[in-house]
Amino acid sequence: MDDVKLYARGRKQLEGLLELVRRFSIDVGMTFGLEKCAKVEVRRGKLAETGNITLADGREIASLKTGDRYKYLGIHQTYEIQQQENKKTAETELIRRVRKVLKSQLSAKNKMVAINAWAIPAFLYTAGILTWSKTDLERLDRRIRATLTQCGMLHPNSAIERLYLPRKEGGRGLSNLEHSCLKEEQKITDYFVRNNLPLHQWIAANLGNLLADGRIREDDTGEDLPEKLRRNWESKSLHGRFFASLHQPEVDIMRSNTYLTQGYLFPQTEGTLLAIQDQVVPTRVYTKHIMKQDVETTKCRLCNTAEESVQHLSSGCSSIANTKYLARHNNMGKVVHQLLCLENQLLDHFTPHHIYVPQALTENEHTKIYWDLTVITDRGTEHNRPDIVVWNKTKKTAVIIDFAVPLDQNLSKAYAEKIAKYEPLARQIKDMWQLERVDIKPLIISCNGLVHQKTTKHITDMKLPPNTILWMQKAVILGTVNIIRQVIYPH
Ligand SMILES: [Zn+2]
Repeated sequence: MDDVKLYARGRKQLEGLLELVRRFSIDVGMTFGLEKCAKVEVRRGKLAETGNITLADGREIASLKTGDRYKYLGIHQTYEIQQQENKKTAETELIRRVRKVLKSQLSAKNKMVAINAWAIPAFLYTAGILTWSKTDLERLDRRIRATLTQCGMLHPNSAIERLYLPRKEGGRGLSNLEHSCLKEEQKITDYFVRNNLPLHQWIAANLGNLLADGRIREDDTGEDLPEKLRRNWESKSLHGRFFASLHQPEVDIMRSNTYLTQGYLFPQTEGTLLAIQDQVVPTRVYTKHIMKQDVETTKCRLCNTAEESVQHLSSGCSSIANTKYLARHNNMGKVVHQLLCLENQLLDHFTPHHIYVPQALTENEHTKIYWDLTVITDRGTEHNRPDIVVWNKTKKTAVIIDFAVPLDQNLSKAYAEKIAKYEPLARQIKDMWQLERVDIKPLIISCNGLVHQKTTKHITDMKLPPNTILWMQKAVILGTVNIIRQVIYPH
């Protein structure tokens, strides 16, 4: 500790303490920097200006003037801690830091990391020292959220719970100020309770009077915040739908949250995707039934037949099936096609996914890969044009791969449909090409990015690199965000 604060009953005792510190400082070769020191005298709870105090070597420490402050361990004080003034300073600094982070070029995840590591700790330094009430802290959390909304990172009607849940659970990993502050106060309390010196014990016994609000907030500190957030998210009628989808048994939760844990999206894109998942984008159905506003019709502005819900626009509108949905589907497929070609030595170098164009037929002595090509069979079959067929001539095997981007709740259905659809083709090419085995591997990622567990398994079985799913998912979610943006926010 390099800041010393001496307390004494009176001037005589203070002079004695000062002399002790002065001599000790000489002994350890340190200088007593008097210009930074101040003397405060308190009489009947009020600051009394009783003149400077003189050290044994004749030098003086100035008395603190009325209206002046000194800074001790970062907190402005007079004869007491200046609560209002310090609280205002702490709040201003917190918001200044949050704004500065949000103005940076960091990715969605890194902005949250920066706020957690740089803005919030500066504030938490005052926990247990300044009297932050629950209302104060709730207001500050709201201010941070409002700042995120101003930057387009958080839709105002999105699930607040997700903002504070860990990214691996489908949240965005922002620290909650109220909760962090209470935890910090609890740590200080525990410190005094655990220590045995009379001073510690006296403070521990009087904590109720010393801590914020003159009370210990035991009602909140015992609660497990993530658990409370999970429960709230699950129970919300609108936001809870994505929670339910994410927790379907066939969903690979860890990989479904890759875009969050990797955090590569632009902050605004991440905000829009979560608004789509939370179903709070202003479609006609939402505007009428949730916003309770007058709309001429709730029919889709593109096809004019179905109801315009976010699900309909994300994956059910006939007007864009052959354009925007197809492009999203192909972008996901191209990732797998290129990686399969590289794995089978059919390509010698990697091309960035967004500019890669698959060849309809790629072949070497061992392997032949079809891309969106009709497979002519002797007997003929209705579904003979899967997205990819990998024919391994050496091992006498083939894999039929087909992609689908269904609604979140239709993952299983989509998988089963693909298997049924290509079984006749699988049987026919097994005979025709005289193969040992033919596998059908549907690769399914929902329009909101949910990864079917079978998708993970198939990718692993085909020995494709672990990042394959990351790139497939990125193609899907960017596709969905772009579709919604173009329809709902065309300008
Ligand atoms: Zn439509």
